[in-house]
Amino acid sequence: MAATADKKLLLQVEHLKQYFPVKTDSMFKPKSYVKAVDDVSFHIYEGETLSIVGESGCGKSTTGRAILRLDEPTGGKVYFEDHNVLELNKSQMRKLRGDLQVIFQDPFASLNPRQTIKQILNEAMAIQQVVSKEKRMERMLELLNYVGLPPEALDRYPHEFSGGQRQRIGIARALAVNPKLIICDEAVSALDVSIQAQILNLLKKLQKEFHLTFLFISHDLSVVRHISDRVMVMYLGKVVEIAEKKDLFDSPLHPYTNALLSAIPVPNPEIKKERILLKGDVPSPINPPTGCRFHTRCPFATSKCKTEEPALREMKRNHYVSCHFAEEFQH
Ligand code: SF4
Repeated sequence: MAATADKKLLLQVEHLKQYFPVKTDSMFKPKSYVKAVDDVSFHIYEGETLSIVGESGCGKSTTGRAILRLDEPTGGKVYFEDHNVLELNKSQMRKLRGDLQVIFQDPFASLNPRQTIKQILNEAMAIQQVVSKEKRMERMLELLNYVGLPPEALDRYPHEFSGGQRQRIGIARALAVNPKLIICDEAVSALDVSIQAQILNLLKKLQKEFHLTFLFISHDLSVVRHISDRVMVMYLGKVVEIAEKKDLFDSPLHPYTNALLSAIPVPNPEIKKERILLKGDVPSPINPPTGCRFHTRCPFATSKCKTEEPALREMKRNHYVSCHFAEEFQH
């Protein structure tokens, strides 16, 4: 995928693979693998939001975890600025984690319930050594102000906050170490719609203020539409389409993207939208379908789709799609 000359590349992922071995009850059976991420390549420019979207099990969260090496990838390359991430040793990786932060879906699970917010923020800054001991209190108050929490929050414990407030604490913790890239893994999925909007607006405000870059992982296209600059659609461990947001939402070229978009509810009851219903469930990633992985559910599948894997091709400027017949879906 070509990078644009006027934008600075921050993250580059090449042929990333994440296979998990499947436990068998016999040592004589051949080993099989869940191919959760299978040959995925993409890049993120500094200051942009790239969203990864797809149904549960498509490999979007596994991609995020592999970039951060929370699970060690099976293969491929990840470059962050001039670091070859998968080649870094433990201490180099620990240092890099300051630049690469993550916000999870369930902040309650990722915040230590026995620590006050002050201890949580202080620990993050101490590990990355970003602020001297004397200046940490000032920085903590600044962080709470950025995320819209009162100073009194410092002496309270995570369980004393609502879901939306806990997510604000998760954001403050990520910001505490001055990151460059934040991976938001279903960061607003557990929240009510009105709180979701507040958190999304907060993320956008902070992005502008601190020139942050986001990799935003979500199954919810309405959320993705709100926050993204570009969108990457995954299906069964593969990238099927990647494009600028407007282009993807206005003229999707992959039948799977089209089906996902058709399921977004329209707020105006006067507008009738035809929903494309896909056949069956997502197949198992242990034995993914041959050829195009989407062929078992695609309404346009032909015999070629069953045997030949489509390449990810640039159909329009910055709009890539992996479908043999993408030309036919172009308006
Ligand atoms: Fe459908 Fe074939 Fe295109 Fe795959 S390659 S999306 S099966 S038409």
